[in-house]
Amino acid sequence: MQNKVIIFSAPSGSGKSTIVNHILEKFPQLEFSISATSRAPRGNEVNGREYYFFTEEEFRKMIEEDRFVEYEEVYSGSFYGTLKSELDRIWGKGHVIIFDVDVKGGVNLKRFFGDRALSVFIQAPSVECLRERLLSRGTDTPEAIEKRVAKAAEEMTYADRFDHVLVNDDLDTAYAEAEKTVACFLS
Ligand code: ADP
Ligand code: 5GP
Repeated sequence: MQNKVIIFSAPSGSGKSTIVNHILEKFPQLEFSISATSRAPRGNEVNGREYYFFTEEEFRKMIEEDRFVEYEEVYSGSFYGTLKSELDRIWGKGHVIIFDVDVKGGVNLKRFFGDRALSVFIQAPSVECLRERLLSRGTDTPEAIEKRVAKAAEEMTYADRFDHVLVNDDLDTAYAEAEKTVACFLS
């Protein structure tokens, strides 16, 4: 079981966090990789739980110090990355790492981990559906939502670089498919 990883990627609003949280509840041997980010905390986010929060200056310094497995400037001025120390923290407990990263990060992590990784692309039924989900989530400003939606169309083209594409239309169906795919990889 040790040193395996599962990567979930999707355009923002596809339901990635919802599905990842469900999978984490179902499989106690999985542990979420907490990314570092230079964006500000939103809602009830807590430093060290959803993300490790840094200033852009601190984040750039960590890039120079080669402390990341991968990082991306996902949105202009907002960096996100996986710290090498995070792999040691989770593998040190004998757990399997679960990543929630943007599509480019997902492709990079799959390339890095090869057969030790299962990569899953979560796809919303349409871009319009994405926008509606982001609006109903109510955590982003209208400008941030438009930024995310504008990016989604290009991100959709990455789907075929993943091991598995999961269409998140009916949530219970998506949960069942995600559980089956993960169970198969872990067995
Ligand atoms: P992401 O992590 O990909 O940005 P979220 O998991 O936060 O997306 O989901 C975005 C919003 O859409 C949330 O409000 C979530 O409750 C809702 N959502 C997720 N999956 C579905 C679904 N299958 N049907 C309807 N709403 C959904
Ligand atoms: P949010 O701001 O909604 O939390 O995340 C924005 C995007 O950044 C999401 O697609 C999320 O998956 C991605 N993301 C989070 N952490 C990382 C990371 O460590 N690396 C990369 N490349 N993307 C990340």
